[in-house]
Amino acid sequence: MLNRLKLTGILSAAALVLVGCGTSGSNESAVSEDGIKVVTTFYPMYDFAKNVVGDNGEVSVLLDAGQESHGYEPTPQDIAAIADADVFVYNSDEMETWVPSVLKSIESSDVIVVEAAENIALFELEEAAAAEEEHSDEEGETAHSVDPHVWLDPVYAQEEVNAILTGVLEADEANKESYEANATAFNEKLAELDAAYQTAFEAAENRTFVVQHAAFGYIARRYELTEVAVSDVSSDAEPNPAKLAELQQFMIDNQITTVYYSDSASSKTAQTLAEATGASLEVLSPLEGITDEDQEAGKDYLSVMEENLTALKKVIQ
Ligand SMILES: [Zn+2]
Repeated sequence: MLNRLKLTGILSAAALVLVGCGTSGSNESAVSEDGIKVVTTFYPMYDFAKNVVGDNGEVSVLLDAGQESHGYEPTPQDIAAIADADVFVYNSDEMETWVPSVLKSIESSDVIVVEAAENIALFELEEAAAAEEEHSDEEGETAHSVDPHVWLDPVYAQEEVNAILTGVLEADEANKESYEANATAFNEKLAELDAAYQTAFEAAENRTFVVQHAAFGYIARRYELTEVAVSDVSSDAEPNPAKLAELQQFMIDNQITTVYYSDSASSKTAQTLAEATGASLEVLSPLEGITDEDQEAGKDYLSVMEENLTALKKVIQ
């Protein structure tokens, strides 16, 4: 295995040298005949990569819609798939905390690794240290020290697309024009999405929203809104009774009549809060997974972001 991988590395290096010297007239690519093989971690990375790759190959995703994206543990099959891919795309060491050790274990693979949020300054969480101490004895939870949810910001999403494009070009220079055209077209749609959010919230007087999972900090910062979250950025864990009572009072004092929750996550706390304050429940998706059913029905990153905008407009107005 090791030898084969090393040999592949040497061969691609040789191919690069040939192309570089201009002695090779062919337009051959380093990827297999079936096209580029891209493995991604969770839904937004999959959607962004798919938009860049187009029909030049195959993009797959490791996490299913229902899987907890914050506390995920990779399977041996996941690790083999990453090692075998031309390009592997993940959001950040802060989101997929399991990635660095997996990459270390497959060092001999020549997979090109894209950390999509690498060039984005992630927001530090003031409460992270305290939360970590509080939750450190709970199993299956990953406490983040920064907010990893950059993909929900239509401007940062474009930077993630650009990072994916760079990795894909490194693997398959031969189809450069196609990848670049795909990325440009998708980034134009993301720019339109950003404009729609800006326009919708520009003149709003109510700018505060209450949500179960603290996934919308980047949207809040981008459009000058205030996110009040029931749980933290890492999970949907229930807050303690004191925090819940505080939230309840906050909603009453500020006449907040809507609680947002994620359709794929537990909504128990959001429900409790809604019942206690007479507020209604609305879905706001952190896009950490879209079921196969919904994908077949045509849902994707852009359409869910538009649904989120429609849902937010009920409060932010
Ligand atoms: Zn999240």
